[in-house]
Amino acid sequence: MQVITSIAEAKALCRYLKKDGTLGFVPTMGFLHEGHLSLVDASVRENDSTIVSIFVNPSQFGRGEDLNTYPRDLDRDLALIKEHGAKYVFYPKAQEIYPPDYKTWITVENLSDILCGKSRPTHFRGVTTIVLKLLNIVLPDTMYMGLKDYQQLVILQKMLLDLNMDARIIPCPIIREADGLAMSSRNSYLSEAERSRALCLSQALKLAQELFSRGERQSSALVAAAEAKIELAGGQIDYIECIDPISLKPVDAAKKDTRMLMAVYIGRTRLIDNCALGITNQLK
Ligand code: AMP
Repeated sequence: MQVITSIAEAKALCRYLKKDGTLGFVPTMGFLHEGHLSLVDASVRENDSTIVSIFVNPSQFGRGEDLNTYPRDLDRDLALIKEHGAKYVFYPKAQEIYPPDYKTWITVENLSDILCGKSRPTHFRGVTTIVLKLLNIVLPDTMYMGLKDYQQLVILQKMLLDLNMDARIIPCPIIREADGLAMSSRNSYLSEAERSRALCLSQALKLAQELFSRGERQSSALVAAAEAKIELAGGQIDYIECIDPISLKPVDAAKKDTRMLMAVYIGRTRLIDNCALGITNQLK
């Protein structure tokens, strides 16, 4: 396996790999779990070469957020990537990605200041900027991303469309622990007691799906039921909304593909989760 740290080397390697076949790309912030590895598996399966990036992107963390404490374990990540059959890892330094005179930022308007963007106003600007930079370096045919970060996925799809980029995104299912908790690097922050309370997110989504399957179509009623479930478990709600899957706008009358998105604090840890209301086989 080859670990590349410089942008020039990554560019040269990726252009060389593309001469010989398709290139799949999996951008991550590291501290890999089975969710990330499912993306690596899909890319390895579907492409001649796969490159995984590991970069804890400072610009997507707000002031007072967890940039400095974000979990990191490079050696373990590299071993897992190798085990899953990807041969190339891009592990750049923040100083090379954002030199001191860095000035250019990408914003996908209207989609970036709602839902998670309300409480994290600079987050998606950081995400779109780093992903555009990585895409320009790697020039992949296909980028693999998780439905776990649903708003991020929609924003990036819009960016690729608006900027006429060639890469396409393959959205991949949310990988969950056996009890339903969506896998996340941030789950490592949870104490044992918080870990069991964190189950309220997937349980609230499941409850909303059950109510939907029994005929409830009022988003306000579905959200109220989910809120009650989370409050009972002591979770502090940032937002819970039923939204249109493409525009991300709130909907009053829920349909099968309406998504419920939520961000909830369990103690000091902010967790996100989501589901389509009418697709019930994905939650445990
Ligand atoms: P991150 O390292 O958190 O930036 O995530 C990197 C990629 O992994 C993003 O495309 C995420 O959506 C995806 N991802 C994170 N958690 C999961 C999960 N539980 N299931 C599937 N994909 C995930």
